[in-house]
Amino acid sequence: MPHPQAILLDGDRLAERLQGEMKADAAQLIARGIQPKLATVLVGDDPASASYVTRKHADCVEIGIMVEDVRLPAAITSSELLATIAALNADPSMHGFMVQLPLPSGLVEAAMLEAVRPDKDIDGLHPINLGRLLAGQPGFLPCTPAAILTLLQAYDIPLAGAEVAIVGRGTLVGRPLSMLLSQRGTDATITLLHSHSRNLAATTRRADIIISAAGIPDLITPEMVKPGAAVIGVGISYVGGTMTSDIASGVANVAGWLTPPHGSVGALTRAMLLKNLLCAAAGQ
Ligand code: NAD
Repeated sequence: MPHPQAILLDGDRLAERLQGEMKADAAQLIARGIQPKLATVLVGDDPASASYVTRKHADCVEIGIMVEDVRLPAAITSSELLATIAALNADPSMHGFMVQLPLPSGLVEAAMLEAVRPDKDIDGLHPINLGRLLAGQPGFLPCTPAAILTLLQAYDIPLAGAEVAIVGRGTLVGRPLSMLLSQRGTDATITLLHSHSRNLAATTRRADIIISAAGIPDLITPEMVKPGAAVIGVGISYVGGTMTSDIASGVANVAGWLTPPHGSVGALTRAMLLKNLLCAAAGQ
């Protein structure tokens, strides 16, 4: 008997739908005399980062958001980058901006993120916005965790009381996601796993939902998945130049829901960034 194939969690299609809604929201703001505007700050010439920024710009054009493309050399000093951030903080026409990570070595990411005005922090990575998430207060949500929650909700995957195994405790994905999914009203039970966790498989096997944000190719194998579970691959790594997911291909034969091998969270993550921007434009 062949195994049933998992339902595909199509984040790209969902992102397209959200783009349509945001286009209408942007048009309403423009009709009120507010032209939504964001800046991206790219330091250095890492090709992956440059391509992420290009995709953000394309989405902005589609929605009707103006973009300022700030590019700085990799050799920039901390004080020069802080001066750029201060200028964007002070520009009243700029509703929000993001500093593309990772930054070249020598620049302390935490210090740069902390320099962004919290009400312009559309990445949701300023300690004040992360603190608001922890405290259950409204604020800008970090984009990838918000994208994952949006995806789970769009496919009606039950969250209240569900056992969720999150693999990876990074500040960008795993750690804030654990806060978001366990918040009151969402009510999932979280186990946050990382490189020091003992017996990963024993935890993932009892989970209703597995979210892997480790960046280790094929980390989650079919034997680690409870039949019918939802499996979300967030981690990205490159094997011989090819983009590879944390989720091994055989998982499709066991999971009930699954993100596609090329990923599903990237386009939705960009949608969450622009949602935060429109919210900032409406609020400022
Ligand atoms: P990070 O490097 O800060 O965190 C990685 C985590 O994985 C760490 O907590 C580490 O303990 C854990 N880990 C590593 N090996 C492990 C193992 N063998 N078993 C269990 N845990 C292990 O990374 P991050 O910034 O949080 O990002 C996580 C991943 O998600 C990266 O691959 C990144 O490229 C990807 N990402 C994707 C998107 C997207 O839009 N698709 C967005 C952001 C990040």
